[in-house]
Amino acid sequence: MIEKDTKKERLTSPDDQEEDIAVIHTVRPTSLDGFLGQSSAKENLKIFIEAAKQRKQAMDHTLFHGPPGLGKTTLAHIVAKELGVNFHATSGPILSKAGDLAALLTNLQPRDVLFIDEIHRLNPIVEEVLYPAMEDYHLDLVIGEGPSARSLRIDLAQFTLIGATTRAGLMTRPLRERFGIPLRLQFYTSEELAEIIITQSKKLSIELTCEGAAEIAQRSRGTPRIAGRLLRRVGDYALVEKTLPITNKVADKALKRLEVDHKGLDSADKRYLNQIAFAYAGGPVGIDTMAAALSEPRDVLEDVVEPYLLQEGFLQRTPRGRQLTSVAYQHLGLDPPAGMIKELIDFRSNENKG
Ligand code: ADP
Repeated sequence: MIEKDTKKERLTSPDDQEEDIAVIHTVRPTSLDGFLGQSSAKENLKIFIEAAKQRKQAMDHTLFHGPPGLGKTTLAHIVAKELGVNFHATSGPILSKAGDLAALLTNLQPRDVLFIDEIHRLNPIVEEVLYPAMEDYHLDLVIGEGPSARSLRIDLAQFTLIGATTRAGLMTRPLRERFGIPLRLQFYTSEELAEIIITQSKKLSIELTCEGAAEIAQRSRGTPRIAGRLLRRVGDYALVEKTLPITNKVADKALKRLEVDHKGLDSADKRYLNQIAFAYAGGPVGIDTMAAALSEPRDVLEDVVEPYLLQEGFLQRTPRGRQLTSVAYQHLGLDPPAGMIKELIDFRSNENKG
């Protein structure tokens, strides 16, 4: 639980927080056309949904993987809706016993969608039950114990399992290979996020200009969940200070006060980057050393802090550990080590050209 709390403190955490859940039914898109961005995943899904409908069969099992907050759960809801079937949801850590999964599976109607979030955290015993269910739509259960134990086969309705994971690499190979449709979700562009922010502002009746949306989008770490949260927080400031609609100036002022900089980095990111810069001379430094130095669980660093820093080129993963780039030094306003100066001059001159 410590791990969850650390993630929750941050305004820019991509993980769900209580207030996100409170607005989810208002802001969540309900059709593939209303789901912005992720064009490649969406195009593929459209075909598979249409094919399943024409064949009148369950759609193949689908795995969504990618960092938190990019829309995996939302897409799973949409798939069920577009298929015209029921949606049942659970998550890897909740399914602790084989019987829990059996109860869910035996309740499914033909072609229903069963969504398992954090599927990489399934208990191996539960996972064993899932294999025949995914492959041949049946369960093999053992009833009783000792000499009187007997096995029971239960046939299931054809269903679609949709798994979501932030860490496909932690899934066992047999489980990963049972998904016919693996789809990777990407970070969103600022333009896509601005569009999402404008759509949400209308649903939440928050007055906003296009420039205001662009300003918030730029700081949302490529993640719709963070974009929505920053929109609501900036909206609170603007409401109380009577500065609605949200323009880029209003957004900039509020986000500065919320300590989210123009690239979307907050104090936790800066702590991480400064630690490598000052304590490890820019790296390389191992992830376990970083976790100990910052008193953060390793998986919080790997799941929450690092993906965006890597994506934005602040950080490199090398075989010897994490290493800062010249871009990170520039962003922190620090002088880079001698070897990096040429790299930085090249970067700046490219930026000026661009
Ligand atoms: P994940 O399951 O990947 O952690 P969610 O599906 O819970 O992410 O999405 C987080 C929030 O972002 C939800 O409020 C959702 O409505 C919103 N969201 C995600 N993707 C999109 C999108 N493409 N368009 C609009 N809103 C989105």
